[in-house]
Amino acid sequence: MVGPKEKRISIFEKIITKTATIANVRPWNSGNISEVDLHLPQVDFSKWNKTPVIKCRTSAMHYTDYTPSMWDNNEHICTLYIDTSHSGKGSEWVKEIKENDTLNYIHIDFENHYPVEDKQLVFLGDQTAIGHFCALQQLASTNAKINGYICFNNQQTAEGFTKNCPWLPLETLTGYEETNQKTAQLLEQLEDKENCIFYIVGYAKMVVSIRKYLKSQGIAGEQIKSKGFWH
Ligand SMILES: Cc1cc2nc3c(=O)[nH]c(=O)nc-3n(C[C@H](O)[C@H](O)[C@H](O)COP(=O)(O)OP(=O)(O)OC[C@H]3O[C@@H](n4cnc5c(N)ncnc54)[C@H](O)[C@@H]3O)c2cc1C
Repeated sequence: MVGPKEKRISIFEKIITKTATIANVRPWNSGNISEVDLHLPQVDFSKWNKTPVIKCRTSAMHYTDYTPSMWDNNEHICTLYIDTSHSGKGSEWVKEIKENDTLNYIHIDFENHYPVEDKQLVFLGDQTAIGHFCALQQLASTNAKINGYICFNNQQTAEGFTKNCPWLPLETLTGYEETNQKTAQLLEQLEDKENCIFYIVGYAKMVVSIRKYLKSQGIAGEQIKSKGFWH
């Protein structure tokens, strides 16, 4: 539980942060994800060409990385998909915030992940990667071919994803132990592996394991973009 002391922001943190407004919070009915809409009137989303990351103040001197996605440059609103399944200051913060609260953040930065024109995009990740994959899809051309999977830590959250994110054409898994087998199946089904870019994002051990597997199957390093999101 985030206490009043944690919420109160010091002068130092005020100086080093910018502010956004929480426009809406939507915990999924089934599963451990909350969608958080941020209003960022000063940010020009139209300049974004790589996957963004925002460093949010979730407690006193504690900053958590989340991925802005589904941005609307007219309304100046974007959405974070936040995994609340573990006990961490970020997940506690999400459970307490409400519409019109102020969010302090350090900056919005960019990962070196972007869709490559005319390539098939293969998304392999876990439930912390929903926003990242939505962002990649938004940056890609509308006819980009996308497939892959997201690994969830329970069936309810997997069902929540299917219901709440129907635009992402990804399969769902419900355990990290399924990822290697599923990756092998996906590779078998791909018609033109040389024309694919693989984006592997989420639990660091999973990312390393899938990356190793892809390389062992002859996928070139430049076709793989990976990022461990948590340890
Ligand atoms: C570039 C980038 C973008 C990211 N985007 C998102 C995003 O859009 N949505 C999102 O949910 N996460 C995202 N993450 C991951 C998120 O920053 C981490 O999961 C972070 O550790 C959560 O912070 P916390 O304060 O809740 O927990 P922490 O205080 O960091 O960790 C508390 C404990 O929980 C464990 N832990 C942390 N995260 C998880 C998890 N997801 N599942 C199980 N155990 C965990 C830690 O190992 C630790 O033991 C992103 C990370 C990066 C680097």
